Amino acid sequence: MANVALYWFTNDLRLHDNACLHQAAQQADKLLCVYCVDPRWFAPNRYTHNRIANHRWRFLVESLRALDARLRKHDQQLLVVYQQPLDTIAQLITQHDVARIYRSRTADYYLNRDWQTLLQRYPMLQFVQQDSHTLFDLEQLPFELRDLPATFTEFRKKVEDIGLPPPLSAPDYLPPSPAGSDLADVDLPPLEDTETSFSGGEIAALQHISWYFARQLASNYKAVRNELGGWENSTKLSPWLANGSLSARHVMQELRAYEQRFSANDSTYWIFFELLWRDYFQWYAHRHDKHLFLFDGGKRRKPSTGYYPERYRKWCAGNTPYAIVNACMKQLNATGYMSNRGRQIVASCLVNELDSDWRGGAAYFEQQLVDYDVASNWGNWQYLAGVGPDPRGKRHFDLQKQTGQYDPDGVFIEKWQGDCGDQQLDSVDAADWPIMPSD
Ligand code: FAD
Repeated sequence: MANVALYWFTNDLRLHDNACLHQAAQQADKLLCVYCVDPRWFAPNRYTHNRIANHRWRFLVESLRALDARLRKHDQQLLVVYQQPLDTIAQLITQHDVARIYRSRTADYYLNRDWQTLLQRYPMLQFVQQDSHTLFDLEQLPFELRDLPATFTEFRKKVEDIGLPPPLSAPDYLPPSPAGSDLADVDLPPLEDTETSFSGGEIAALQHISWYFARQLASNYKAVRNELGGWENSTKLSPWLANGSLSARHVMQELRAYEQRFSANDSTYWIFFELLWRDYFQWYAHRHDKHLFLFDGGKRRKPSTGYYPERYRKWCAGNTPYAIVNACMKQLNATGYMSNRGRQIVASCLVNELDSDWRGGAAYFEQQLVDYDVASNWGNWQYLAGVGPDPRGKRHFDLQKQTGQYDPDGVFIEKWQGDCGDQQLDSVDAADWPIMPSD
């Protein structure tokens, strides 16, 4: 009987540098390639937001189409299913007598819960996962995950000299799909027009990275990476890295090739440094599991902030008394992207000026960001809110100073119409009394 395997694509929407797909290709006679679009992403969560909105949804659909096109060159296809993963995979196991299930390791809490359920429910099957979302494999880390260093600096010192596994090329061969697994048309939620600069998919990712490193932008990265706007001021690799259309090890290979060509400097090192941050947050998410989403965070220390619905709504819409914050939020809402400095500024504002629960901010980012990554997002929010891996406690950015430094001529604020006039933070006072004009 044919040895049927199921490859569950999640955050590895590519053929290049995909070790687990290589392994599946070597071990299976027949292979089902599956991606599950979970209907729960499109329903409001406890923060009243969906888990995905237009920008990332479009980017994801493009990425899935691109992956399917790549697979078809190998006489394969991507089975996209609009159903909860557990139900889908259970059905496919029965329908095709699946013997092995493969996936890339992910820090996604819900997917890991499903993976554990499958492990328990199907003890006779073989489950295989490998690291392809991170620079390092889990086995390469010079400590047990439970002993993950409490700060990024400690982590960096321990790992930065470890040799990275070279990225693999795409497999030459993929086993065919089993009979009866042809695609029926799936009715996915509709795509809406978005104003975006990012095209989804592995080929678009590889083209973008070639474009970035063909110019001498990396040599000046450190000096400009904090700018609020400007396509060339940072790599803009994050959306492709987040859904795995691009491998971080491939980025490192391109970076090293660039350094050979043009020479290494502080700026080229800093791109590696940021990718180490990304790795740190991945392992941090694995280490802290559900605490990634809890109020007291990895530090298990409850902040003193509260929940103010009106402030929160104004923050989401970019309608606060702070022009720089409004401009960044309007950029996010219009494009799905915000610079790293912008993200720090608006997060600090929510937590400090608006005295609000950081998780509302993380949930809104989850919905809006084109590059949403569970570990990078919730980890960075914890860091900013003082419940994450920062020994110094929460970060409070001086909004006036930030404006002077990053938008001295008001160009960014004007572009995104950040100035909302005489906007008040609250239209009622804390005891629910309407605020009179003279207050
Ligand atoms: P570059 O500056 O060119 O950096 C290169 C790569 O390094 C990025 O593509 C990214 O993969 C990684 N990187 C850079 N900074 C960080 C960082 N602080 N943490 C983790 N990885 C980093 N990044 C995401 O990819 N997804 C998120 O959901 C996300 N949410 C964030 C939320 C907050 C509150 C903050 C402060 C930061 C968040 N970041 C997130 C990190 C960072 O802002 C983005 O990765 C970066 O702005 C993306 O633009 P870029 O690719 O041009 O980055």
